[in-house]
Amino acid sequence: MKHLATLNKYFWKYRKRFFIGIFFVMGSNYFAVMAPQITGFVVNLVQQRLPGARPAGSRPVHDRLVDWFITTVQSAHLSFGWIITISCLTILLSAIIRGILMFFMRQTIIVMSRHIEFDQKNEIYTHYQRLDTHFYRTHSTGDLMNRMTEDVSRVRMFTGPAVMYLINLVSLIGFCVVNMLRKDVHLTILVLAPLPILAATIYFVNSVINKKSEKIQALLSDLTTNAQESFSGIRVIKSFAQEKAMLGFFRKNSEEYKKNAVGLAKVEAIYFPSMALMIGISTLVTIMIGGMQALQDSSKVGLIVEFVIYINLLTFPVSAIGWTASMIQRAAASQKRLNEFLQTEPTIVNTSDPLTAKVSGDILFKDVSFTYPHTGIRALEHFNLKIRKGDKVLLLGRTGSGKSTIAQLLLRFYDPTGGNIEIGSTDIKKIELKTLREQISYVQQDVFLFSDSVTGNISFGLATGANRDTVEQAAGFSSVHKEILGFSNGYETMIGERGVTLSGGQKQRISIARALIKEPEIIVFDDCLSAVDAKTEHEIIGNLYRYLHDKTAIIITHRIFSSFRFDNIIVLENGSVSEQGSHELLMANNGYYAELYRLQLTEEKAEIP
Ligand code: ATP
Ligand code: MG
Repeated sequence: MKHLATLNKYFWKYRKRFFIGIFFVMGSNYFAVMAPQITGFVVNLVQQRLPGARPAGSRPVHDRLVDWFITTVQSAHLSFGWIITISCLTILLSAIIRGILMFFMRQTIIVMSRHIEFDQKNEIYTHYQRLDTHFYRTHSTGDLMNRMTEDVSRVRMFTGPAVMYLINLVSLIGFCVVNMLRKDVHLTILVLAPLPILAATIYFVNSVINKKSEKIQALLSDLTTNAQESFSGIRVIKSFAQEKAMLGFFRKNSEEYKKNAVGLAKVEAIYFPSMALMIGISTLVTIMIGGMQALQDSSKVGLIVEFVIYINLLTFPVSAIGWTASMIQRAAASQKRLNEFLQTEPTIVNTSDPLTAKVSGDILFKDVSFTYPHTGIRALEHFNLKIRKGDKVLLLGRTGSGKSTIAQLLLRFYDPTGGNIEIGSTDIKKIELKTLREQISYVQQDVFLFSDSVTGNISFGLATGANRDTVEQAAGFSSVHKEILGFSNGYETMIGERGVTLSGGQKQRISIARALIKEPEIIVFDDCLSAVDAKTEHEIIGNLYRYLHDKTAIIITHRIFSSFRFDNIIVLENGSVSEQGSHELLMANNGYYAELYRLQLTEEKAEIP
């Protein structure tokens, strides 16, 4: 339960709404208990007129407003019919006032919960954005989404309905029990006795229902994931002719879901009848015991009627105790899960006084070692490299040799476990993260495009957006301009989820354009031409050569671009530099580079008919 304390700041923020809400709840309940009192008075009045009636005993105690009403009606010397009519109208009026107050109670408390939900979602989203790559590697997207949607809405069930029912319950019980005790302590105890059993039973049934619905929720999520995967992987399924197997798998999951859903429906079917039974028993006890008392003292008939109405008033809020309690439990569990994330602090942070000046100058990797935190894989080992400002560097190496890791460390997706990285003689840890990343463009190996227009995707990194000319220029540099013009809506064509409507090469080139438009000081291309043909590659390399003339560039690839004059070529092996130097030097060295170069040359020759 202590987890819910996190929500106090929100209750405090919306305290005005909250307190007004409490006032409306109390007001509506005050008018709710007027009806039984006036009914009791009317029944007593009728009973007095029956033959053989006993004279009324001492006048029952009512609350002030009801007392005033009775005194006024009695002292006005009205006829019996008029008294009854006015009493009925007063009951009707109190019901209307109660209804209006209930409307405002929902308007304040439920609306407050919606505000809290909104704030909470924003808080979580903002926090998610602050968390670093490591966090995203260790938590699945589904989990993150679930916490932001499912858990937040469970917490809302607490801040809204549960809190409202709780206040309602306390205030209604307060009003009813005070009124009942004032009239007959003995009868009060007897008729209230079954109510705790009712609350406990409902709590129990509710727990069963919750457990079952949670299981159903999990099954449903499996089913959705299953369906989602088979839709996005439909080409794989079809090419392996696995449609039938997939259908069988889906059917099995679906069958399991159905079985559980039917089970839940059965439990729910008992829920309402058992509630009605409990309420019935309470009413029965009141009538039975009250009836026996009335036999001895007929002036008590009004009291019995009044008590029966109290019981009926109380049954709904009391039966909501079980519901509310399990709602609070679920909200506490959800808030605990949310707190786990909210209390996770990013490890990649700015220093207390970060540098915000533009980053430029030589890049220096000083004895950098790096081990991935969650897998323990040692990706870089005493890696040393100096890149002079304006240099174009080629980074080669077998798959898994640590090339992408270098790029990620430069952008501070991770901090090195040993050594440090400097740009312009400043440790990158001292540079403000935003400034650092604004000045480095990173074209990632696995392209990700947003579900947005081509223009939207290319100008993504620009805070102020870009004009059409700049977008087209960037697309021109990455040799994708002509293809974009060929799309149905040109630059306004929407790119589907993960850019499904585009070819691999088109996606790569749009992501290059996105990096170029930023006009960064440093640019890192991570294997970003792997999906384009040799001719286009040649064209892009030519363009890049012009574009990059004053920029520092690190080009990671598995192929050697022979038309590009690199200032330095690095060959990486198991996380350390194994060869380094100019093309001529490395050819003379006769190592991995020379081998790759010769292999590529033979391949290219073979391609020429
Ligand atoms: P490729 O040419 O295939 O892209 P690479 O040279 O870019 O390979 P890296 O991605 O830097 O290689 O990976 C270096 C090592 O670190 C590999 O052994 C890889 O399995 C591991 N690795 C890479 N990314 C992660 C990660 N996010 N978490 C854990 N280990 C990782
Ligand atoms: Mg890589």
